Amino acid sequence: MLRGFPGADEEHRDVPAVAFGEHGIAVDARLRTTNRHAFAIGDAAGGPQFTHIALYHAGIVIRNALFRLPARVDYRALPWVTYTDPELAQVGLTEAAASAQGPIRVLRWPFADNDRAHTERDTAGEVKIITRRNGRIVGATILGAAAGDLILPWALAIAQKLKISAMANLIAPYPTRGEAGKRAAGSAKSAPSGTVASAATSAASRNGTLWSATRWAAMNAPNPASAAWPSEIWPV
Ligand SMILES: Cc1cc2nc3c(=O)[nH]c(=O)nc-3n(C[C@H](O)[C@H](O)[C@H](O)COP(=O)(O)OP(=O)(O)OC[C@H]3O[C@@H](n4cnc5c(N)ncnc54)[C@H](O)[C@@H]3O)c2cc1C
Repeated sequence: MLRGFPGADEEHRDVPAVAFGEHGIAVDARLRTTNRHAFAIGDAAGGPQFTHIALYHAGIVIRNALFRLPARVDYRALPWVTYTDPELAQVGLTEAAASAQGPIRVLRWPFADNDRAHTERDTAGEVKIITRRNGRIVGATILGAAAGDLILPWALAIAQKLKISAMANLIAPYPTRGEAGKRAAGSAKSAPSGTVASAATSAASRNGTLWSATRWAAMNAPNPASAAWPSEIWPV
C-alpha cells in the first residue's frame, strides 16, 4: 500500500503531485512521473510486478537521472517463472500471441528425449520455441525442472533479435537440460514454415529414418508426474 507519497493522501496534498493511473503511479517509458523531480519504479509504477522488474527499473532510472541517458523500458524480453512442480518459464510471445500477429513456426523438444533429464529421473515437460517465418525468435516457453534457469539464453536471444540458427549452432555441454533448447532450435531445419517441428521430425531427418510410432507415442505419453499439471498454466 502506497502511503505518504506526494499527492497520495490528504497529509501530503501540499507536495507537488504525481498522477496516478489505473494500476499505480503514471510513468512514461523512461519511468518519469508527472512531477519532473520524481521517477517511479517497481510495483508502484504499475507495470509487471516482479522483483527482477523492480531491479530493471532501477537501472533505467539511474541511467536517466544520473547519466542523462534516455533509457526506456522494454518488456519484450521479460521472463517470468511460475515456481510450480514442474517449473514453468516464459519469455517473449506465447504461441497464441505470436500467431495472432502473423505466421509462426513452433519448435519443440521434450525432456523425455534429454539424457540429463533421464539421469535425474525427471523427464516431465518440454522446450517450446516460437519463431517468425524468417527464423527470428519471438517467444520461448519451458516446462520442466530448472525451467527458470533454462529460459535465460532465450531471453537474450529475443532481446538481441537473434534467429533460430544462432541457437541451433551453439555448442551445448553434454549432458545438460540446456541441450534440449539447442535440439529444439535444430529441429527448425526440418520444419517447413507454418508447421510444428518436433523431436520426432528432427530425429527422423537426423537419422534418415522415421521414428517408430511406438517411440513417438511413448515420448508423448502422459508422464505420471504430469497428471497434476494445471492445464490453465500452460500458455497455448
Ligand atoms: C507472496 C508474493 C510472492 C512473490 N513472489 C515473487 C517471485 O517469486 N518472483 C518475483 O519476481 N516477484 C515476486 N513477487 C513480487 C515482488 O515481491 C514484487 O514485485 C517486488 O517486491 C517489488 O519490489 P518493489 O521494490 O517495487 O516493492 P516492495 O518490495 O514492496 O518494496 C517497497 C518498500 O517500500 C516500503 N514503503 C511503503 N510505503 C512507504 C513509505 N511511505 N515510506 C517508506 N517506505 C515505504 C515498504 O515497506 C517496502 O519495504 C511476489 C510478491 C508476493 C506478494
